[in-house]
Amino acid sequence: MTKVLTLAHYYTIPEVQQMADRVGDSLDLALFAKESDADVIVLAGVRFMAETAKMINPKSKVILPDLSSTCSLVTMTDINELKKWRESYPDYVHVAYINSSAEHKALADWTVTSRNVDDIISHIHSQGKKVIYSPDRNMGAYLNFQYGYDMPLWSAVCEVHDKFNKQALDELFATITNQKYLIAHPESPLPVLKQSDYIGSTAGLLHWVKNYSGVSDAVILVATEDGILYNMKNARPDLDIRQAPIYTGCKCNSCPYMKLNTVEAVKKAQNQTGGVVIDYLSQDTMDRALVAINRMIDFSSR
Ligand code: SF4
Repeated sequence: MTKVLTLAHYYTIPEVQQMADRVGDSLDLALFAKESDADVIVLAGVRFMAETAKMINPKSKVILPDLSSTCSLVTMTDINELKKWRESYPDYVHVAYINSSAEHKALADWTVTSRNVDDIISHIHSQGKKVIYSPDRNMGAYLNFQYGYDMPLWSAVCEVHDKFNKQALDELFATITNQKYLIAHPESPLPVLKQSDYIGSTAGLLHWVKNYSGVSDAVILVATEDGILYNMKNARPDLDIRQAPIYTGCKCNSCPYMKLNTVEAVKKAQNQTGGVVIDYLSQDTMDRALVAINRMIDFSSR
């Protein structure tokens, strides 16, 4: 009998998360895929996640429910331009956020997730090496600001997190008289991050909410994709948790690519009657990308 493992990212809809064997952030899903002996892995997320799962578990057939579930960090990055940029810094270590295509990772020395990026870049700097960072400009700007680095940055953004807006936040804050907190993902713009009480990965934000022990009537604003609010509200139904506003002032920010993982599409992928099989990566691309991915996994497993 075919063993099917379904992995879902926190940003998918609640109904899809309920169909999954495991719900997590990018690092969690990658590590879980690595250890799996499933014949088929259905990756309810976006394409770079399915590519990563395939590269670290080549024996499994990996299926992405919808071919169009890409990511703005991928579509804003022209690989030929990235190659030229990387070659213009021959003495630097190239660190690439895991939210990047397999071809992108193949041009990197390390990959990182939002959970381990601080530690890995600190580790590389501690060895006296210089770093270039791609593709997320906002996350790179945050790291440069927070730690005083001067890393050259590639310029792409997450179209979801980039919409969070300081002015809309200030306007909302002025209307809230209760104690208020802002917690934010580092893909958000630097002015929003500077205002945050906590900055962390998707899993880190969830952990912060689960462990919140402040006043009970506080308003907690969350600057990240709306899918994780489902998990936060499940974990702490006693708290007033709201998504942070975007530039139009609405609290309505969600990733269109993650939402392509409909219940129907995931079911078809599970039955192997739909979705796209990740079988198009060249061996050379996978081999080079794996060097960067495995450095991160080895570091995170220490
Ligand atoms: S939320 Fe942003 S980084 Fe994540 S998949 Fe969507 S566009 Fe990409």
